[in-house]
Amino acid sequence: MRDPKRIKRILDLIEKLWTQAPDQRLGQLLMNYGGFTTKDNWNIEDDDTETMLKLGLEAISAQKHYQKTGEICCTECKKPFKKISKYAFQPDCEHLNKDMILSVG
Ligand SMILES: [Zn+2]
Repeated sequence: MRDPKRIKRILDLIEKLWTQAPDQRLGQLLMNYGGFTTKDNWNIEDDDTETMLKLGLEAISAQKHYQKTGEICCTECKKPFKKISKYAFQPDCEHLNKDMILSVG
């Protein structure tokens, strides 16, 4: 049986994300940050959704920091993200999940 406590945790994450990106529609938000796609959302496990939403929050925070300062770095330790392609960067410290990809430009 799935843990009923996940419902509040996931809804709290959605609320935090949506507050950071209020112009997005709910479906858009879940596709942008929740790992949802245009097909097969039926089989996405809630643990994976939760992980994706947490990554989304980290990405929004890093994006806002970049827009304010021009720095692509961890807001906590200031270590620069690793460049993985022309416009994509990944955290390179222990504060942020290394699966997060920040797109700029
Ligand atoms: Zn850091």
